[in-house]
Formats: sequence, structure tokens, C-alpha cells
Amino acid sequence: MASDLHTHTIFSDGSFSPEELVAEAKKVGLNYLAVTDHDTVDGVKYLYENGLYSDKSIKLITGIEFSALNSEHDIHIIGYDIDIYDGGLSEMVNDIAESRWERFSKIIENLQKEKFNIRETDVLKTAGDSKSIGRFHIAKTLVKMGAFKTVREVFDKMLSKGRPAYAPRYFPEINEIVEVIHNAGGKAILAHPLLVGDDELVEKICQKVDGLEIFYPCHKAQDVQRYKIMAVKYNLVTTGGSDFHGVTSRFVNALGEFTVSDEIAKQFYRSGDDR
Ligand SMILES: [Zn+2]
Ligand SMILES: [Zn+2]
Repeated sequence: MASDLHTHTIFSDGSFSPEELVAEAKKVGLNYLAVTDHDTVDGVKYLYENGLYSDKSIKLITGIEFSALNSEHDIHIIGYDIDIYDGGLSEMVNDIAESRWERFSKIIENLQKEKFNIRETDVLKTAGDSKSIGRFHIAKTLVKMGAFKTVREVFDKMLSKGRPAYAPRYFPEINEIVEVIHNAGGKAILAHPLLVGDDELVEKICQKVDGLEIFYPCHKAQDVQRYKIMAVKYNLVTTGGSDFHGVTSRFVNALGEFTVSDEIAKQFYRSGDDR
């Protein structure tokens, strides 16, 4: 049997609603599912508060994926088995959301200066239920408007760092993220270490977190082996997941295409959980 510990919904940049994701997970026979939206637990909350997972056929693990402050590398830290109502966690989530909104307005302003006829409301329509408004939604809107061919092109020409419409936002430090996750009762995992792009940095981060996501769609056998050795060296738990985003997924086309063993998932699951 199989599980997936890394998935996104429309509450961040995925294309499936939480209930669609859970339905799909059941359909493809997953036993454990962790929803790990960027900077929000609203998708997880939605499932719990609407009783949408609580049958025996699927076990839900609470999760979130934070991006840490770093000028050169993408450092993503996942929190598992977190109390989604924890005060410190909510505070960090709110600070990030606020700064995302500020950045959002700034980018739209910048794009208007670059003579793009785009308004905030256009992007909000694209973003739908997402509370974690991002550059992705802006890019998608510009593609929909026919201004660019692909989301990638919008980033390369307009939205990436150093490009005309770029605006910065607040990123918490690795230590702050780990502390918030621990205080919320969870475990902090360094996501997709290969995408960090610097193994020396990965090794430094290994000394601050509880686990390493060694199983990931773009990790080749030798990457898994190398990170497994690192995990042993720093006494870390090993995890994995598909990073499923629905139709916008980067590495997998379908849920269930890339899975991990239930043994890996089980360690983050609390039975009889009524959060
Ligand atoms: Zn990530
Ligand atoms: Zn992700």
C-alpha cells in the first residue's frame, strides 16, 4: 500500500480543491495523505471542519510548506503533524499572508508601469479560493490574457528577481520556521534537498531540522542514496512525496504516480485525532 506526504490544493498553488484531492487519493488507493500547502493550513482546516476525510479509507496528516529566507536558494521546510490551530503557527501564517498581499499590490503596480493592462481583480478571479496569493496566479492571469505564452515566460521576463515587475516579500528564517513547527507539536522536514541546489547548504540545514525528504520525483537513485546517508549522519527521519499540484504539477501527472511506503507516513499520523 502507498501514501503521499507532499501535496498542494487550490488553497495555495494547486488546482484541486481539498475534497477533490481527498477523493482522488481514495480513488488511487492512497492510505495516508498529507496536504502541505504553501504558507497556509486552510486546506487542512477545511477538510477537518467539514468532516471530509474522517472515514476509515484514508488517513489525513496535517501539513504546511514554508519557504525560508535565502537570497540564492529555494529552501522549503515542511511541517508535519502540526496543531493547525496553534497561535504561533497562525501568527507566522498571517505575517506571510499580509506580506504576500503587499507584494501582490506592488507587482500589479509594477506591471501597470510596464504597460500591462492587468488589475488586482483579474488575478483574484484566477486565484479563486487561494488564500496564499502568489506570483503564480499573476503569471497565469497574464497567460490567460494572451500577454505571454507560458507561466515560465512571465517569470523569466517579468516576475523573477531582477526582472521589472519583481517585488520582495517577507520570508522567515529557517530557525524561526523550525521553532514554530516544534511549538505547534510538529516535525520539521527539509523538502526536496536536490532543488536547494547546494549540498553543503543542505548539510547545514540538516543540523536544524528533524527530517529530510529523500524520496522526491526528480531525485535519481544516487540522490536518494546520498541524502539517505546524510539523514543517517544527522539522525533524521526520512520522508517523501510527489509534490502533486493537480494539472499544474511540475514532476508528476497524476496522484498515485509517485508514492512512499505507509511505514514512512505512519510516523506522522495521530490516530483518534480530532483536531
Ligand atoms: Zn517546495
Ligand atoms: Zn510543495
